Amino acid sequence: MAKKQFKAESKRLLEMMINSIYSQKEIFLRELISNASDAIDKIYYKALTDEALTFDKDSYYIKIEADKENRLLKISDTGIGMTKEDLENNLGTIAKSGSLAFKNENEAKDGHDIIGQFGVGFYSAFMVADEVTVISKALGSEEAYKWESKGADGYKIDPCEKESVGTEITLKIKENTEDEQFDEYLDEYRLKAIIKKYSDFIRYPIKMDMTSSRLKEGSENEYEEFTEEQTINSMVPIWRKNKSELTEEDYENFYQEKRYGFDKPLKHIHIKVDGTVRYNAILYIPENVPFDYYSKEFEKGLELYSSGVLIMEKCSDLLPDYFGFVKGMVDSEDLSLNISREILQQDKQLKFIAKNIKSKIKRELESLLKNEREKYEKFYNAFGRQLKFGVYNDFGQDKEVLQDLIMFYSSKEKKLVTLDEYVSRMPEDQKYIYYATGESIDRIDKLPQTELVSEKGYEILYFTDDVDEFAIKMLMNYKEKEFKSVSSGDLGIEEESEKQTESEEKESKELFDYMKEVLGDKVKNVRASKRLKSHPVCLTAEGEVSIEMEKVLSAMPN
Ligand code: ADP
Ligand code: MG
Repeated sequence: MAKKQFKAESKRLLEMMINSIYSQKEIFLRELISNASDAIDKIYYKALTDEALTFDKDSYYIKIEADKENRLLKISDTGIGMTKEDLENNLGTIAKSGSLAFKNENEAKDGHDIIGQFGVGFYSAFMVADEVTVISKALGSEEAYKWESKGADGYKIDPCEKESVGTEITLKIKENTEDEQFDEYLDEYRLKAIIKKYSDFIRYPIKMDMTSSRLKEGSENEYEEFTEEQTINSMVPIWRKNKSELTEEDYENFYQEKRYGFDKPLKHIHIKVDGTVRYNAILYIPENVPFDYYSKEFEKGLELYSSGVLIMEKCSDLLPDYFGFVKGMVDSEDLSLNISREILQQDKQLKFIAKNIKSKIKRELESLLKNEREKYEKFYNAFGRQLKFGVYNDFGQDKEVLQDLIMFYSSKEKKLVTLDEYVSRMPEDQKYIYYATGESIDRIDKLPQTELVSEKGYEILYFTDDVDEFAIKMLMNYKEKEFKSVSSGDLGIEEESEKQTESEEKESKELFDYMKEVLGDKVKNVRASKRLKSHPVCLTAEGEVSIEMEKVLSAMPN
């Protein structure tokens, strides 16, 4: 028997598609604007090879018009338009993408920005409209056609009048129902916000008439309303520009415009990668800790764009938790998008980008540490705790990334120092990296346990954060030097007073036994200390877990 083609219940298929692909209705506008942009792009590419065609930027734009009274929303473009066949093929066949075909035919030319590929975006209009009318006149054609549809029932195409080349799509916006609001898609401010959100970096102007009010001429308190055509989108994605063209101010403005934060960014990172996976990114290290940063509500992530169109507002897979404070965006034309263009089909490219970004952030922080110490310390005071958590989490699998970025307060320098700085000035005979744990620098300063180590002239790192000791337990060592708490039983320091202690031990045996009896369960042992100089007594830990760690652990909820 001959092979048979699958049949499809196209009515049901369309209904399913319209109502189940997209998570948010507002996406319809992103889809229609993307199509309009593709249509203009096609003229642009044609003009590159066709001498008869000139592409003067001013005549190419997208216009959005809302007519509240009649519930009509119109999206028009001066793009390449569609012939009768195009309307039939592209808007009459589900999953047929004229744009994908165009891209394939013109593969040789580079700089492709054409967005369409799945042949379903157009139908998203039916999420918000009862009826869609498309009037189009194709480039090089004398005739115009009108395509009309109420959705699942099918469509019709008739000849009509249209003066200029391009496409005009009119949506009859649905009436509000009890559970769903549609009026908002006729509100100019709402529309403006949707355009800004998803289509800000469409390369052609998206124009809309906006009403505002102004002081009446000659009057001091009377206002009048007036409408004025505005270009809503910023058009030129700053990440596509050359770094040399951009000033510090441009980056700061972008940070503020995108509301990545209300502070001034401490540092920006502009990345352009043109390898197997192409992407551009602008990342920021904020100056201040966001108010919800150390809470459960905080969501890390970068904005993800595909060819300038917003796909995801917070793509968390792009950042490891310990760099969760980084803000910014990534744009790539190489993502394999899911049909809704809201999620990714495959995360191979994303993983590559994430890995790349991670090492760039690391390098940037290292250079900040090396060249702009003050700024780095500012950064570290804000986000250092997160880095230490990073060392501790995942069993220290990323310790290589982080060990050179963490800092601790030093007894010698009286300021933050890195492990590298500590180790590089260790005296020959010093075996360990010493640290002392306590609530505050002041408290640690007064710890009797630090006396012997300090007297030896060894530097001590002050651990004042709960996470500190846990983090270095994960690190285990740095440049082959192990960490040692000043309150651990064996400090690894040769003692001349060894003999003396021994005899003291014998002499005071009775006293120590008595003390132990009185203290009962509270201590394991009472003995003469080798480390005390001016203090009469101190507590030390016997095992691996220090007294401070024990405190943290016992304070944790079970
Ligand atoms: P996609 O954009 O993924 O190809 P759509 O369903 O959004 O899928 O659009 C289907 C096709 O219809 C497009 O590929 C394009 O050929 C055509 N099309 C849609 N809108 C326009 C437009 N405004 N101007 C010209 N062609 C258009
Ligand atoms: Mg499309």
